[in-house]
Amino acid sequence: MVACGASGKGGTGKRASEWAKQRDSMVREQIEARGVRDPKVLAAMRLVPREQFVPPSVRDHAYADRPLPIGDGQTISQPYIVALMTELLEVGPGDKVLEIGTGSGYQGAVLGAMGVNVYTIEIRPTLCHEAAKRLERLGYTRVHVRCGDGYGGWPDEAPFDGIIVTAAPEKIPAPLLAQLKVGGHMVIPVGAFYQELKVITRTPTGFTQKSVVPVRFVPMTGEIEHQQG
Ligand code: SAH
Repeated sequence: MVACGASGKGGTGKRASEWAKQRDSMVREQIEARGVRDPKVLAAMRLVPREQFVPPSVRDHAYADRPLPIGDGQTISQPYIVALMTELLEVGPGDKVLEIGTGSGYQGAVLGAMGVNVYTIEIRPTLCHEAAKRLERLGYTRVHVRCGDGYGGWPDEAPFDGIIVTAAPEKIPAPLLAQLKVGGHMVIPVGAFYQELKVITRTPTGFTQKSVVPVRFVPMTGEIEHQQG
């Protein structure tokens, strides 16, 4: 379930204990200090070796307080945003979460480390295959990766206790709303240049929504581009 993590030396020769120290500071200074409290989230952020999810060229900045490039013009989110979105999902061990935008696989790994069963979809083939290999190598057996457009969700595994979207559409994809359980939350950045991080909650009769914070994500591509405009 939980990764073996970075054993021995990392890509730039730092020892695992050195990365663990950086991880601990990241959690205290960037995440706890900004109000993320869920102990499950904090524990997972202390476990997942973020340095293994970024390219060697930026590995020394793996724990910096910002997003980083992961290739193909895409980015891994800032650690605080990953923690915040994870907390907003309000999920725990045994729950089932759909993620749209696997990217590096880091967000999926954080959920996997919490004992959540993750179904994640990535539209860019290279990133998808790299993330799937990485997650397997690090032992995240709860995280299932599919390559393709996430617009339609993952109907065979629906409904989900939570849905997290890490690329921004201008309009929320209807098929994703349909795959959310009653009581479940969808955490999603919505907008073009200016985006809001939103939490959509399914109620027995419909949906409620709230805006949490302004954010900046890469755009959602694929089918959604034909649905908006
Ligand atoms: N969660 C990632 C960061 C994701 S960056 C991590 O932890 O590293 C956003 C990703 O969403 C990019 O990799 C992009 O290719 C992907 N994406 C964009 N539109 C998509 C779509 N329609 N379906 C699936 N993935 C999509």
